[in-house]
Amino acid sequence: MSVAVICTGTELLKGSAVNTNMAFLGKELCAAGIPASLEITVGDHPSELVEAIADALKLADTLIISGGLGPTADDLTLDVVSRFFSIQLEDNAELKVKVQNFWNFHHSGRCPKAQFRQARVPAGGFILPNPVGSASGLGFETFYGGRERKVFLLPGPPREFEPMVKDFLVPKLCESRPEELITAGFLCCAGESTVFPPVEKAVAHLPVEVACAAGAGGTRIFLSGNSKSAVDEAISIARDTLECPILPVGEFDLAEYLIKLLKESELSLGCAESCTGGLVANRIVTIPGASEIFSGGIVAYANEVKNHLLNVPQNILDTCGAVSAECAEAMARGCCQALQCDCAVSTTGVAGPGGGTLEKPVGLVYISACVNGVSATQELRLRGDRRAIRERSVECALLLLYKLLESPEVQNRC
Ligand code: ATP
Ligand code: MG
Repeated sequence: MSVAVICTGTELLKGSAVNTNMAFLGKELCAAGIPASLEITVGDHPSELVEAIADALKLADTLIISGGLGPTADDLTLDVVSRFFSIQLEDNAELKVKVQNFWNFHHSGRCPKAQFRQARVPAGGFILPNPVGSASGLGFETFYGGRERKVFLLPGPPREFEPMVKDFLVPKLCESRPEELITAGFLCCAGESTVFPPVEKAVAHLPVEVACAAGAGGTRIFLSGNSKSAVDEAISIARDTLECPILPVGEFDLAEYLIKLLKESELSLGCAESCTGGLVANRIVTIPGASEIFSGGIVAYANEVKNHLLNVPQNILDTCGAVSAECAEAMARGCCQALQCDCAVSTTGVAGPGGGTLEKPVGLVYISACVNGVSATQELRLRGDRRAIRERSVECALLLLYKLLESPEVQNRC
């Protein structure tokens, strides 16, 4: 199965909206073992969409189009698609009721006729339910260019698109695979270029496909094939091959996994942040259930705050400076005391663009983690702009905590 995606919306091309639908869909398809081969973004013009469909079908037998299913004049996806494939659109009684009810719930007065454009279904097609919005997703199978094709249309708003992809589109795609495809994967805490080549080489003799998705905190690696024993063997070889820290099979997010680990060990966590200014805390509390382990965070930007709230000794600040291994360690230890928590992570560094010196350049960051009095500290030399340096620092700090939690020193104590 080869999949192409077309995202419609002039705002995506102009940069006034970010194409998060493709980012979300790409990850979900990859996790299901059917990665997309091509993506095209087009403006809200019928001729552009026609060209994009024709191009996409040169490669793909499955086409997913996002956006343009609304009731307004610029929402043309369904009409363009029906004309392209010469498929009639039929009024659907069930969708008429849905559109009417949706209108009654959100508006007063008569439902405008244009709304019922959303009650049309391609002849012989099917509906992908949209529990959140008025426009339903649609799909159909057809013959084009001498091949069977599957076409799926989904509404553009991400809060509608994302649950529909997860709950209806991906299960539907998996259902129509000729043979059952087994996929397993895990997160490797390293970049794609470090992870992909050795894994691909190590499992080359097995009937499996390797797919990677790089993101915050590392690279998600997926191995898929039709034989469970081959996939299991490939997973085990891949895990033995990799030298970077890896999470257990099925774990794809470092913060989420850390929370699980801390819950299991009944350990509470706090953070003391300078250059990341709350990003570590944000990363943790974004995960549902964080409250069970997260005590809180202290943003200690000024030296006085590091000293007063985190008890960083004045002589460390005077002699080593705020951007130092000594300060990072004292911040993490001080955080455990101040917040009465079992573990803490800290960050202090030069995020730039100004403030760098020869001795302490932009990108120099110290991170520290502390678990029940055992601590580990690391110097980072990061590249990129202020945002990249701060975001990377967060992931490195979480990784340091993970490594410390797994270390024999902590394991023997807990
Ligand atoms: P509506 O009924 O809201 O018009 P629609 O299916 O017609 O839904 P669009 O008009 O294409 O969808 O987009 C609606 C909203 O969703 C816009 O705010 C748009 O910026 C956003 N959106 C569309 N496509 C994407 C995308 N690929 N990534 C992120 N946001 C998107
Ligand atoms: Mg629209």
